[in-house]
Amino acid sequence: MKTETFCGEFEGALPFRQGLFLINPDGSGYLMGNRCQLCGVTFFPRREFCIECYQRSHLEEVKLDTTGTLYTFTTVFRAAPGFKTPYMVGYIDLEKNGVRIFAPITDCRPEALKIGIRMELVFGKMNKTPKDEIDKKQLTYQFRPPRQPSNRKGFI
Ligand SMILES: [Zn+2]
Repeated sequence: MKTETFCGEFEGALPFRQGLFLINPDGSGYLMGNRCQLCGVTFFPRREFCIECYQRSHLEEVKLDTTGTLYTFTTVFRAAPGFKTPYMVGYIDLEKNGVRIFAPITDCRPEALKIGIRMELVFGKMNKTPKDEIDKKQLTYQFRPPRQPSNRKGFI
């Protein structure tokens, strides 16, 4: 499997698992899934075979949507060792691919979340106390409510 190298603000970062996502130099990026060309089902993370028709040879790599709808969410107060609490997680239904993604939620307070709101993909550090230098560089995917456009335009 190829090794991702990131640039821009994520230069030197490492994905917490190879092959999950790619990041553009401007910091935007996308999750990598695969799609069965026979039955049309899309998977994330990628699978070795289609769990609908069990074919291995017709899976194509696809870039997934970067926006979706919040299906549900919760706040985690008790976590595995090393994870800082509280933090939020949720399921996001991607708009075009028909994929439901489980992901950390970032950049907002729980009160800002509501089932059905729009969410966008972002990348950031793992919510984990690093054990070594590699841990410090680890990067993951997350979702957040889209930032509101600045309303300063037009004000004097
Ligand atoms: Zn299939």
